[in-house]
Amino acid sequence: MDWGSMVKALSDAIGEQAERLNALDSTLGDGDHGTSLAAGFTEAARRVAAIGDVPPADAMRMIGSALLNAMGGSSGALYGTLFLRAGHAAGEALDSSEAWADALQAGLDGVRQRGGAQRGDKTMVDALEPAVAALATAASSGQPVAQALAEAAIAARAGAEATAAMVARHGRAKFVGERAIGHADAGAQSVAVVFDALARWWKENAHA
Ligand code: ADP
Ligand code: MG
Repeated sequence: MDWGSMVKALSDAIGEQAERLNALDSTLGDGDHGTSLAAGFTEAARRVAAIGDVPPADAMRMIGSALLNAMGGSSGALYGTLFLRAGHAAGEALDSSEAWADALQAGLDGVRQRGGAQRGDKTMVDALEPAVAALATAASSGQPVAQALAEAAIAARAGAEATAAMVARHGRAKFVGERAIGHADAGAQSVAVVFDALARWWKENAHA
């Protein structure tokens, strides 16, 4: 797997959406989520640009520590944890839907442990959890990785849109109370952007 190409694709997609993510975060938080995530993925793309086809554990450790170093904020720790845990669980290969489902399940568990958020709390968990569930369903019905990631991206987007109806229980948005209703969560929307870019990269690069 060409990690440099993949992370560059994620970084480009996040860069394109950074203003929109900032706008979402400015309604419910401090308006920095897009800028912060773009800085994190720019640094991750720089670090993995020339690593070649290393095992996912190594690549994801590099991505996770780049996000931890370059992002800051509550989501930096959470995105960093997501990649570090997923990489640890992925081991030697991400060449099947099962491997992706297992890795991202571990990443989701890490995010939940670290942040304490559950589904319905209006956070990135509201996009990540349905995406991981879609990966597991696709894996158990024998779908190839491209299809599994495409379904995960659709589930993440639906989960992110559904946060508009929620009141936040974590992060800065918690202080906004009922006024949060009608506005989607920035972190949930950024998870949807990441899955969408990942699914497109996989499809275009004609992997399994
Ligand atoms: P900060 O709130 O420090 O400015 P960001 O703006 O980068 O950080 O990220 C905000 C996003 O982080 C929120 O939209 C939400 O999705 C996510 N988030 C915040 N706290 C938590 C938490 N405890 N668990 C899961 N996600 C969280
Ligand atoms: Mg913020």
